[in-house]
Amino acid sequence: MTTVGILGGGQLGRMLALAGYPLGLRFRFLEPAADAPAGHMAEHTRAGYDDPATLDAFAAGLDLISYEFENVPVAAARQLAARVPVYPPPQALEAAQDRVAEKSFFQSLGIATPPFAAVGTPAELDAALVRIGLPAVLKTRRLGYDGKGQFVLRAREDAAAAWATLGGSPLILEGFVRFARELSIVAARGRDGAIACYPLAENYHRDGILRLSLAPAPGGTPALQAAAERIATQALEALDYVGVLAIELFQVEEPASAAPALLVNEMAPRVHNSGHWTIEGAETSQFEQHLRAVLGLPLGSAAARGHAAMVNLIGAWPDPAAVLAVPGAHLHLYGKAPRAGRKLGHITVRADSPAALEAPLQAILALVAASEQG
Ligand code: AMP
Repeated sequence: MTTVGILGGGQLGRMLALAGYPLGLRFRFLEPAADAPAGHMAEHTRAGYDDPATLDAFAAGLDLISYEFENVPVAAARQLAARVPVYPPPQALEAAQDRVAEKSFFQSLGIATPPFAAVGTPAELDAALVRIGLPAVLKTRRLGYDGKGQFVLRAREDAAAAWATLGGSPLILEGFVRFARELSIVAARGRDGAIACYPLAENYHRDGILRLSLAPAPGGTPALQAAAERIATQALEALDYVGVLAIELFQVEEPASAAPALLVNEMAPRVHNSGHWTIEGAETSQFEQHLRAVLGLPLGSAAARGHAAMVNLIGAWPDPAAVLAVPGAHLHLYGKAPRAGRKLGHITVRADSPAALEAPLQAILALVAASEQG
């Protein structure tokens, strides 16, 4: 019996376990929160990631360790890696945890990112604004997620308010990208170096939180997919990566050529919200794929099964019976207590053509909007 340890115990961990049980796997989660979505269904060590003795006890008897949360301290991942195989490799965590290191990593591979500068003082913010121009986004280098720790600057006078809000943590200033749309690519690399890339997803955010993913991305061309796969492949190989990696992209129109181009916004060294559509919408879900990769099993096909839309349930969820009455709709609730801004579940609608997806997707969007109204 193979037991997989997972650092973090949120909904991503829960869905990893759901995908792993048919493969005969067992799971043990390390997660400080008491009421963790993954703890409802597997062994849960309730502790933080900092105490070496806790980490040793957690690792005892595990066959391998992975994570569903990228802000695990790198030192903890390295300590565990001395005892048990840890995938993805801790160097991928390190590269993804700091927005300056992350963008520098992609630029070192010749992959385009928004212009950026590290900012540690008000004087550095002024200098970065001169170099990068306006509008611009000031972000914390570490621990930002779902748009938290971000301030959009539209005028030079905004610098003082941005500094007052975020100064005190190491920061990054990024040029504000007037993107045509946001895309993401989820890809996996096995222990043997084999790579499988899912079709691009098109993502819509509101208040910095993902609301809707469409996959395969509407209007995506083979050239666009190939460009995204080149980015993913370069990153996976440079990191000697094993597991699922997600890369968030901005698609911009190149004024000179009118050809679309891709800029990397950020990467997540784990399964990703914009890949939830793969549970019903792809031959192999991202969760099963991640487990196949880290266990050294053959990767599965990443091909889409028709067309899918994934709608996040944020702060509230609609009546399950109403959702399940919509043809092609699949409901996923994470067992979390409702709270404003919290991801509580998602709904995936799958159909055989974009046209057939339209009516059920609109029905689901209406149910979700009504539930958010209270
Ligand atoms: P992040 O936490 O970096 O993924 O940012 C959350 C969301 O804010 C992104 O999905 C974008 O919608 C928006 N955003 C972040 N950075 C930029 C940028 N440099 N230019 C324009 N929009 C951005």
